[in-house]
Amino acid sequence: MGKDYYAVLGIDKKASKDDIKKAYRALAKKYHPDLNPQNKKEAEEKFKEISEAYEVLMDDQKRARFDQYGEEGVKFQGGFDWNQFHHYQDIQDIFGDIFSQFGFGGGGVGNPFGGYSTQQREIRGADAFVEIPIDIRRIARNEKIEIYYFREMRCDECNGTGSATKKLLTCQICRGRGYVERSSNQGFILFRTTEVCRNCNGRGKIPEKVCHVCSGAGYTRKKDNIQISPPAGIYEEEIYILRDKGNYRPGGSGDLRIKFDIDYMEFRREHDDLVKDIQIDFTEAIMGGKMKVSLLRGEKEIDIPAGTQPEERLVLKGEGITKKSGRDNSDVILHAKVSLPKKISKKQRELLEQFKNEKGFFSGFHL
Ligand SMILES: [Zn+2]
Ligand SMILES: [Zn+2]
Repeated sequence: MGKDYYAVLGIDKKASKDDIKKAYRALAKKYHPDLNPQNKKEAEEKFKEISEAYEVLMDDQKRARFDQYGEEGVKFQGGFDWNQFHHYQDIQDIFGDIFSQFGFGGGGVGNPFGGYSTQQREIRGADAFVEIPIDIRRIARNEKIEIYYFREMRCDECNGTGSATKKLLTCQICRGRGYVERSSNQGFILFRTTEVCRNCNGRGKIPEKVCHVCSGAGYTRKKDNIQISPPAGIYEEEIYILRDKGNYRPGGSGDLRIKFDIDYMEFRREHDDLVKDIQIDFTEAIMGGKMKVSLLRGEKEIDIPAGTQPEERLVLKGEGITKKSGRDNSDVILHAKVSLPKKISKKQRELLEQFKNEKGFFSGFHL
């Protein structure tokens, strides 16, 4: 009777992959050599033993053979070594924790799994980013905006495969894994680092015949354009995202992130509403009148009500931009700035004196 991998991990034969993983992670923490300074050698042996068990039991085929034939069914050639272990990512976080606990920090002192990511193959493309200057009047008119920008797009010649024949072969350097491993001894532990395979740039596959248009990359940088309407109630600090309009990769395209650089012109933003100062003469403020105001969609004649006070706000319903809710328009608020003359003529002075002496003038003030 050879090794019993179930016993090594302290689990039973019906254990699910989750159970196996849990058991392995718990033991990996326990036996990590750095946590066992008194008996490093022993801990290292144990750590290797549980990793061997884990390697076998996480692989459905190996597990089935082991269940049927025992250790003989899964014998590692020349004994199990770290090159046959494929689950570094499952304990990567534990190692990170352990390393920070011991104050090594930032992957400096030989993080055994540094730089390795299981997501190297068929990675998603990066997001593209554009900033669009736009004035508030165009936003108010919901004008369509045409955006031109550069992004990496799928090569049409090879359907994004990078291969002129559209066929891909398994990379011989990394045997399709997309990464290569390097081992080094640091003290008694064998440290392994993995890096992206340079032959296939981490894809694990290489073109059968390199596409002459994209040189095998599967994408080319091109100018693209899209038309969009300004999103309802958009703010300048908001990022508007268009899915899949970023850079192409076989694993999927990134997004296009748009930032609107809004010129408010003579307006100010107050939530969804827009505020504009208007200068009105004191006589207009008192007696009321009509006034032409340039609004977001052109000029409009508005009524200044009699008795308008300085700093009073006149609300023009629905003259703003599409509200964030997308349902209706926000308001434009006119902020009344009442101007008083600094100099008046003799005649005007006489009229004001007359006005002042008129009975009832002071009744308008709360004295
Ligand atoms: Zn490769
Ligand atoms: Zn191509």
